[in-house]
Order: sequence, then C-alpha cells, then structure tokens
Amino acid sequence: MAQQNNPVLPRGVTQATFEKALEAFRALLGEENVLAQPSQLTPYSKVMMSVENDAHAPSAALTVSSVEQVQGVVRICNEHKIPIWPISTGRNFGYGSAAPVQRGQVILDLKKMNRILKVDPDMCYALVEPGVTYQQLYDYIEENNLPLMLSFPAPSAIASPLGNIMDRGVGYTPYGEHFMMQCGMEVVLANGDIYRTGMGGVKGSNTWQIFKWGFGPTLDGMFTQANYGIVTKIGFWLMPKPPVFKPFEVIFENEEDIVDIVEMLRPLRISGTIPNSVVIANVLWEAGSANVRRQTYTTESGHTPDEILKKIQRDTGMGAWNLYAALYGTQEQVDADWKIVSEAFKRLGKGRIVTQEEAGDKQPFKYRAQLMSGVPNLQEFGLYNWRGGGGSMWFAPVSEARGSECEKQARLAKRILHKHGLDYVAEFIVGPRDMHHVVDVLFDRTNPEETARADACFNELLDEFEKEGYAVYRVNTRFQERVARSYGTVKRDVEHAIKRALDPNNILAPGRSGIDLHTYNKV
Ligand SMILES: Cc1cc2nc3c(=O)[nH]c(=O)nc-3n(C[C@H](O)[C@H](O)[C@H](O)COP(=O)(O)OP(=O)(O)OC[C@H]3O[C@@H](n4cnc5c(N)ncnc54)[C@H](O)[C@@H]3O)c2cc1C
Repeated sequence: MAQQNNPVLPRGVTQATFEKALEAFRALLGEENVLAQPSQLTPYSKVMMSVENDAHAPSAALTVSSVEQVQGVVRICNEHKIPIWPISTGRNFGYGSAAPVQRGQVILDLKKMNRILKVDPDMCYALVEPGVTYQQLYDYIEENNLPLMLSFPAPSAIASPLGNIMDRGVGYTPYGEHFMMQCGMEVVLANGDIYRTGMGGVKGSNTWQIFKWGFGPTLDGMFTQANYGIVTKIGFWLMPKPPVFKPFEVIFENEEDIVDIVEMLRPLRISGTIPNSVVIANVLWEAGSANVRRQTYTTESGHTPDEILKKIQRDTGMGAWNLYAALYGTQEQVDADWKIVSEAFKRLGKGRIVTQEEAGDKQPFKYRAQLMSGVPNLQEFGLYNWRGGGGSMWFAPVSEARGSECEKQARLAKRILHKHGLDYVAEFIVGPRDMHHVVDVLFDRTNPEETARADACFNELLDEFEKEGYAVYRVNTRFQERVARSYGTVKRDVEHAIKRALDPNNILAPGRSGIDLHTYNKV
C-alpha cells in the first residue's frame, strides 16, 4: 500500500530512513500490523494531560503476536535508530494513556499477545502475556470454577495485569500492592536477548512463579517504570478465594477527621487485622464516582466552595471522608476481626459504620465492594463527569501513614488546587506504613485557559510538595522528566549507566521516567 508522507517522525530520523524502517516492519509483521496513517493512529494519540495530543503523537504503531516478532522489531529499531514505546493494553488513563512519552516514538502494541499461559489453583499463581485483561482472567477463573481471587486497579475490566504491574499500580484486596505479588518475568532486551528473572533461567525449573529471588542480583524491579526491556510474560500470585468476605464503609463528617482515622487505622493495617489496601475517599471522589454531576451543585468555573461540599454531604449522606475496607477468611476469623475493628471504631467516637446489608446495591459502596473482592467494573470512570472535558492527571505523592502527615498533604494539595480554580478530588490508599495520596486533577481539556491553569497547578503541586520532602510514586508522561529530578542525580547517573549498557542505541522508550541517553547531561 502506498504510504502517505507522515508529518510525525521519530526524533533525529529522516523521512527516508523512517520509510525504510516501515518497509522492514511490514516485511516482518505484515502490512496490516504496521499502522502509520493518521486515522489508524487516532486510538493511540489521545491523551488526558495538559498539552495538545500533538505533543505526544506517535509516528506509527506496530501490533505484534509473538516474542519472535518483538525480537525482530528491536533488531530493525537498532538498525534504523527508531525509538519504540511498548504498551500492553494501553489503558494508562491519567498517566499518558497509550501515547508515547515523546512525540514521534513508534508504539509497540502487545495486546494481540493475549494468552493466559498458566493458572495454578494449588500454588495460586498466574502466568500471562501482555495483552491479557483482568476481565479475561476473571472470566477464565469463573469458567473453570477456580477458588482464586484477583486484585486489580479500578479500570479492571479493560486494563492488563502486566501493564499495571509495569507502572507499579495498586488494587484493593490484600494483594493490592501489585508489584509485591509479581513473581517472574520474561523480558526481551534491546539486543534481542530473552532474559528471565528469578528462577526462570534454570532449565526445567518449576519454581519460576513460586520463588522470586533466584540467585545473585534480583532485577525484576529494574524493568518496572523503566525502559530497559520489553516484558513479554509476567507471573503473579493470586489470593485464595476466602469463604467469607465482609466489606464495610465508615463515613466521617469532617475534613479534620483524617488525623484520627489514620492513627486508628495504622495499627490495624500493620498487624494485618485489616488485610486489604484500605481506601479513604473524600466527598468529591465519592460524588464523581456515584455520577453526581458538578452542574447540579454549581455552575461556576472555579473550585467547588466548601458550603457546596457540605450540601453534597447533606443531600447524599456521603462523608467528608469515606473509608472502605474489608475482612476476609472463615466465619470465625471474620467474626473475631470484626469485633476488634468495630470496637476500635467505637472507641474513636466518630464515624458511622455501614455494612453490606445496610448499603445494598447503593453506589459507590457497590463498586468499592466489588473491587475489594476481585469483581471487575468500570464505575470509577464516573469521575470524568464531575467536571467534564476529558482532562485528568493523577497527582500521587507518597505519605507516611501518620494522621498529621496526611492532613498536612491534604491541606497543601487543596490550597494549591483551589488557587488554580480546580477541585481537590482525592483518596488515600492505605498500605501498612505508607499512603498513596491520589489526587485526580480534573479539568476541561476543551478549554485552553483551564488547561493552562491545570498545567501550572500540576507544576506547583510538584514544586511545593518537594519543598516539604514529598515526591510522587508515579506520574503521567508530561511530567516524568521533572519528577525524575526530585529523586537526585546519583540515582539518575546509575539509571543512565544501566541504559548505556543495555540499550546503547537508546531505542527503548527514551524519556520513560526521565531516562534518555540523548538528553541526559545536556540539561
Ligand atoms: C477512573 C480511573 C481509575 C484508576 N484507578 C487505578 C487504580 O486503582 N490503580 C492503578 O494502579 N491505576 C489506576 N488507574 C490508572 C490506569 O488506568 C491503570 O493503572 C491501568 O492498569 C494501566 O493501563 P494498562 O493496564 O492498560 O497498562 P499499559 O498502558 O499497557 O502500560 C502501562 C505502562 O507500562 C509500560 N509498559 C506496558 N507494557 C509494557 C511491557 N510489556 N514492557 C515494558 N513496559 C511496558 C508502558 O510505559 C505503559 O505506559 C485508573 C485510571 C482511571 C481512569
């Protein structure tokens, strides 16, 4: 098929070289798997960040079906110095979606590699390819009546375990720290070698998904939020389905309650009495998720005033903070834990407990309970109806699980967002010792003035939090270089030394997490 001249080119690559590379990709993958027409690239081009889609436009996208094809692609990329951006299902909404970190990179779309390679119900693990979705795995488990439970992020149905683990994402069950539950990966390196982590290099081993550490250096983490390889298989542990699951919510009236909530919760999390990743969502997160539309409450373009927040609380019964957690186990275990947990809440003297029986099918309780019990849904996308206009960037600083720290972060974030006329839509996801403080910076991307405000706001959030010693655990592609700087030069030097050793032609996702041989030391 005659190729129209594509205005988007990879950095430093001429049109003629790019055409040669495309020819080689077509010979390897077939015409239909090399997408270079603007209309074919539309699904890969839409971002939700505070810049034009054009800033992150891909030059082409390749769809591959096998590890051998991935090896063939890196060979061609090395020959023509073509940068590629691997995605699994490409649903990294609010962190860059499917689009590459730098304009002109070629997307390597792995979603056709979607085989569930193994689910072991005795050892409780799965081994999957990049394109496997959580829904696919959930259906497999249900159809085969396996006593296993999944943990996934809120866009569960359409996202992938491999992609989520690559970005060190989180879920809501006791297995909610997803990278912690990862065990064994297969990686195509930039030189085309296939590297297996952990026990995976041992011929005939049956412990690749059983024992993480293998022998010598353990390198799995090096491939997450990074650009040192293309992961083509991933293993992860699955939780045995408990006989009893008891979700509950506790509704708190006042913003200041966050201090007492976290202090009360931490010992219960560290001891494992509450085993799952607890969520403490603020009123606007609740309202958005339950599809309460902002227009119902205010038509002003700035942030939602506090009196309106109180009115939403009165009208809907939502709290200023809404805590969701669950207990898992046999009836005896759950009864014993419930006694400890409910008495701790009673001693606190604030907060209204809501159980499954009381909540019935009400949202957002229903979808929260589903997430905590491994049932996929897409309810949280309702957040985008709160403001409208499709702009969303997650600001996700890590906090100590200490009440005073969480309050300090909440106040700081709210002040900065309000200064820029935006809402504080936030939740804390409670690990035993840390909190992922996740703020959805929502804005109307169809409005250039508001988009510019969101951009300035995000920069100020990063700057002001850094002054207090806080940094984010993950960020969208527009701000990855900026965030890399918060973590110091020694770390960056090491990362670039590894990049030079493993990928001297800088073909794998240059710019990912600020790692780019072309620009580093030039800034
Ligand atoms: C309403 C809403 C709620 C959300 N809630 C959550 C949540 O609860 N928890 C959470 O973690 N996220 C959440 N997200 C963010 C995001 O949607 C999920 O993390 C999602 O799982 C990521 O998309 P994906 O699985 O398709 O991964 P992908 O987009 O395919 O991959 C993510 C990134 O990993 C890298 N990558 C992917 N595949 C490979 C590979 N094979 N080799 C090397 N690198 C690779 C790429 O850099 C890619 O950008 C939410 C988003 C929305 C809109």
